[in-house]
Amino acid sequence: MELLIRGTVQGVGFRPFVFNLASRLSISGSVANTSRGVIITAVSNEDSLSAFIKALCDEAPPLAQIRSIEQTDLTEPIDTGEFSILHSSATGGAAATIPPDIAICDDCFNELNSLQDKRYHYPFINCTNCGPRFTIVEHIPYDRPMTSMKVFPMCDTCRSEYENPADRRFHAQPNACPECGPQVSWHDQQGKRLECDDPINEAVEALNNGKVIALRGLGGFHLAVNALSHNAITNLRTRKNRPYKPLAVMVAEVETARKYAKLTEADEKLLLSPQHPIVLAPKSEAFDLPDILAPNVADIGIMLPYTPLHHLFFLYENCPDVLVMTSGNISGIPICTDNDDAVEKLGRLVDNFLLHNREIVTRVDDSVARTINDIPRLYRRSRGYVPSPIVVPWQLPELIACGGGLKSTFSLSRGTTIFPSQHIGDLANLESYDFYIESIAHLQDVFEIKPEAVACDLHPDYMSSRYAASLDLPLYKVQHHHAHAVAVMAEHHIEEPVLALIMDGTGYGTDGTIWGGEILEAHLTHFNRLGHLSTFQLPGGDIAAYQPWRVAASLLHNLGMQQNKFPASLSAIDNNKLMPVLSMIDNNFNCPVTSSCGRLFDGVSSLLGIQHINSYEGQAAIELETLAWKAATQSWTNELNLYMNKNNTHYLYYKNGKWEISCSEFVKVIIDLIKNDIAVEDIALFFHFLIIDQFTTLIRQLADQTGISKVVLSGGCFQNSLLLQGCIHALTVKGLEPLTAASIPANDGGISVGQAVIGGLSHVYSTTNAGNQG
Ligand code: ZN
Ligand code: ZN
Ligand code: FE
Repeated sequence: MELLIRGTVQGVGFRPFVFNLASRLSISGSVANTSRGVIITAVSNEDSLSAFIKALCDEAPPLAQIRSIEQTDLTEPIDTGEFSILHSSATGGAAATIPPDIAICDDCFNELNSLQDKRYHYPFINCTNCGPRFTIVEHIPYDRPMTSMKVFPMCDTCRSEYENPADRRFHAQPNACPECGPQVSWHDQQGKRLECDDPINEAVEALNNGKVIALRGLGGFHLAVNALSHNAITNLRTRKNRPYKPLAVMVAEVETARKYAKLTEADEKLLLSPQHPIVLAPKSEAFDLPDILAPNVADIGIMLPYTPLHHLFFLYENCPDVLVMTSGNISGIPICTDNDDAVEKLGRLVDNFLLHNREIVTRVDDSVARTINDIPRLYRRSRGYVPSPIVVPWQLPELIACGGGLKSTFSLSRGTTIFPSQHIGDLANLESYDFYIESIAHLQDVFEIKPEAVACDLHPDYMSSRYAASLDLPLYKVQHHHAHAVAVMAEHHIEEPVLALIMDGTGYGTDGTIWGGEILEAHLTHFNRLGHLSTFQLPGGDIAAYQPWRVAASLLHNLGMQQNKFPASLSAIDNNKLMPVLSMIDNNFNCPVTSSCGRLFDGVSSLLGIQHINSYEGQAAIELETLAWKAATQSWTNELNLYMNKNNTHYLYYKNGKWEISCSEFVKVIIDLIKNDIAVEDIALFFHFLIIDQFTTLIRQLADQTGISKVVLSGGCFQNSLLLQGCIHALTVKGLEPLTAASIPANDGGISVGQAVIGGLSHVYSTTNAGNQG
């Protein structure tokens, strides 16, 4: 019989596994990688063959993910008496996938540390179970000549490992050793190579001396400094013009991570997972790293070494225990991958470069995740996760979904699979847009997807929407928050209508205003807006997202409050700035209205005097959450229950056929608390309770009306773990079934997945004339 196996089955040690299995069960035939998937011909008696298929599923290598096995009978089975591994063929439609990049495995780590091993301290050690994949692949099938390893001919020993089915490096495409593989080199800030015996030792010395170094890694450059040194961090922040945004750190092992972060079992599992993402976790009691590392936030972003090169750093005695590892880019533009480009762009930011000569074909940032209720939630789905597909229970056409504006990703779909791209960034920036266009071309090529339709955001000015319109294809415009909702439906394979609570920053509404605090009845291809936050003005438009005090001024003005009655917290705002903004609001000049939940959080943060300026996205809201956590006791969910049981005041109004939750009432309550000298932390926590109670009360009411009890939660505000946990808790208490984002980000990184489903199904229905289903 012939078996076609689809899924992540290439570059994960699958063929040697099949080979060994066939030998064990005395099966003759062959196995081959093709661009359709892995094809096995197997000849033997029926019992052995069924044992073979069962073992294929049960015993597959850890990184393999079998999605389907198609079985056909051979017309003339020939028993050759042996089993062989055939050379890859490039024929057939591509259903094969490239595995993502995987952190160094234990076997390789042990060899890295073993003096006798020929790869002792070799920074590019890898095997079939670990190492670079997506970042080095130019095309499928995933084979060495199709990767950036093609310029490194293997030495005899490497080749014999590569060709030996019993070896751990059998067909490990990036296989290399110090004799034949890539090398690191040490450079000054102009990129001039500095001769030395041990470039890594030089790098460690530099870090130890407080220098900023640029380090070429797996999917791009990092900027690294000693995280124990206040001066080194200050230097990095000044040069990178990044005053407050929290910096992620790398430590050698979990024990060290525990010293700085409160880690749950789920966090530790995530840190050590093959993906090795940056894990966000609360700072520990004993946290003693310089404050400026992650100022005014409760969490620290922490990761473990995922390449042999990272491990080597920590093996040197004088290496600092904690290293800042932040993306090697100029703020706002994509991380550098190319040596020359890095020297040009990063030269003025760093003191030295540690380069290597294995080209990075595909730029991939570190992934960022946090566990909430023990479930890992991806905030940025990139290295280690991309290009693994998301599988949905619906047949989608070949389609491209173009994503949003900030935190952009795009997705490609075919059949029941969606391939979300890695994190791309803010497309308003030319370099990011180029990266976006390049990545689309690369992934379309790699997966051999020729879109027959395109989906994009409703926002006419997003670069992604303009790109979509430039393609000469049937175009499906998808409302932003509908896409957020359907991304979660896709993750949970939900087909029936749900209620969707979307708490978000900015999304273009069907009425042309900016939405963001929305309750939808979401279907797979359409939605009804049932309720939303009451609207307020954003003086100056987009700039209000960077200057939360503008929102605070607008919220106060909404109450009819005169400037001389504004709370003292706003006295920090220069009158020369405040006056023109108030007159803008008065004259309704350049003041788009919004129901944005993100802006409300910003405004409240400013109102409480916590943060008036967002120097990075979400800063004011994150600092508000941080203070709220300070006031939260161990049993805060019980306190939330008590509050919800006791409170009968609901600020819900039915207007123009929709429910509105009144922001003005929230602001009144907060002003009262400020007047009564309640501590800022307590007000911050109370505000969370207030918002959770109001929204979930309305949802309970809408659940009764519609008979729908499933509630999906999505939107960027749900990166706030207090808000997410509180909403999950409140909805559950109210007898509803909350469903949340985990493997697809709740922020705008996830909307291309929702677009792919909505656009894809709409296209199927329109082309098959099946009418308005779903
Ligand atoms: Zn390995
Ligand atoms: Zn070699
Ligand atoms: Fe959004």
